Amino acid sequence: MPELPEVETIKRGLEKNIVGKTIADFGSDWKKNINKPLAEYKKIVKGLKIEAIKRRAKMLILDLSKGWDILIHLKLTGQLVYGSKTKCLVGGHPIEEGYDCLPNKFTHASFTFTDKSHLYFNDIRKFGWLRLYKDNELAEEFEKMKLGIEPLSKEFTLDYLKQIFKKKPNKKIKQFLMDQTIIAGLGNIYSDEVCFYAKVRPNRLVKDLKEKEIKLIYQGIKKILQASIKAQGTTFSNYRNAEGEAGAYSKQLKVYGRYGEKCKVCGTEIKRIKIGGRTSSYCLKCQK
Ligand SMILES: [Zn+2]
Repeated sequence: MPELPEVETIKRGLEKNIVGKTIADFGSDWKKNINKPLAEYKKIVKGLKIEAIKRRAKMLILDLSKGWDILIHLKLTGQLVYGSKTKCLVGGHPIEEGYDCLPNKFTHASFTFTDKSHLYFNDIRKFGWLRLYKDNELAEEFEKMKLGIEPLSKEFTLDYLKQIFKKKPNKKIKQFLMDQTIIAGLGNIYSDEVCFYAKVRPNRLVKDLKEKEIKLIYQGIKKILQASIKAQGTTFSNYRNAEGEAGAYSKQLKVYGRYGEKCKVCGTEIKRIKIGGRTSSYCLKCQK
């Protein structure tokens, strides 16, 4: 699933291309994953302008005129594809060759803008969704989701992290980092990487972490997320046709998905364990 850096990358890529455009039409073959009957959805969004594109946790928000918003979750395999006569963007990345910016059999929703460009929502596994809300309804939805703090915000300080650690002393650090109601945006990839950075094993209990380790976890969250955004995220799935420059952070991963390979720091074989049903990779020697 795309995590904070990937969704942020998509946001930044699309920002330059769709903000300011007016929706001329909307289509979907996907009743379950839009929250209103298609005819009603279509009637509302036609003629609305995209005023901004925002991110909250792992979700995107199309901020529309007249107080409407579309909340988008890509889930496991959702993809936003922007196409015009001169440009093609997949997941916010320019794709030079080998990618068709036309709808395909995995396209389940599409926006047509008044300048004839398009935004397609492709999803192989169909877990993703596009929900249309009024501003106040969107605020209510966010309330219901009980989303945690944005880790790249100014409010997320070392003291804040220490406070929230105190509230969940018996959680394993990996589960703590992945809990969207505590910190929003980290999933399996970046929680593994943060644990490696802090030299702590993913199954350590929060209450047993030392002061020095807490500092490193804090530092790791900020540094790793920022470095990944800079590299345009991690390409972790092969559903893309062309990788191009996309997702260069894959090369910088230290442990995630590297089970059985050698640790880049000490050469020890990377191990894996299941924590809360998720596989976590770590180095037995570098992480205590
Ligand atoms: Zn190691």
